[in-house]
Amino acid sequence: VPKSYRCATCNSNFGSKEALKQHRRSKHRAKELAVKFSYVAAAIVMVSYVAFSGALSSLSPAQRDRHVPDQLVMHIHARLTIVMDGREVTVPANIGISPSLWVDRSLDRYGQGGMSPLHTHDESGVIHIESIVVRNYTLGELFDVWGVSFNEFCIFDKCGGRGSVRVHVNGVLNSEYRSHVFRDGEDIKIEFKTSN
Ligand SMILES: [Zn+2]
Ligand SMILES: [Zn+2]
Repeated sequence: VPKSYRCATCNSNFGSKEALKQHRRSKHRAKELAVKFSYVAAAIVMVSYVAFSGALSSLSPAQRDRHVPDQLVMHIHARLTIVMDGREVTVPANIGISPSLWVDRSLDRYGQGGMSPLHTHDESGVIHIESIVVRNYTLGELFDVWGVSFNEFCIFDKCGGRGSVRVHVNGVLNSEYRSHVFRDGEDIKIEFKTSN
């Protein structure tokens, strides 16, 4: 019995292996290519999986679940202007950064990069609120960090009923004083007027 070679796709029989190959190349070329392609695709998936899991396993378990500990989740700015008897006082650079302008340290744990979460970088009056937790930061807390007295009766050394303290936020008279919560982009103006 002559051996026959059957095509698995169309069931035709061929007298030799060569004839079957020839038939498959001419009739079923697209299918042959598809099969070859699927092997290549499977190989690519396996190689990338091995590479990826290798990259993962080269991290220690601690690195894999690590929380970046001091990632900022809050970064807003407000502008502070202080006017004493008609004269604007400079809000110094580096409040909450240089040791002499960083008095109350109770908020330090919320700050990033060795800075208080409430700080200034320059003399523009821009207050930076940069925090690793989302919380309400108040005007009073800023003055505590700075180490300057501030409340409804008092600013700097002008305390003890020697004048009046007024606060405007975005041009609107504000009666919250120390408890005013900073909002992004707002303009805060504190004015002291000595009484006659
Ligand atoms: Zn900053
Ligand atoms: Zn900032």
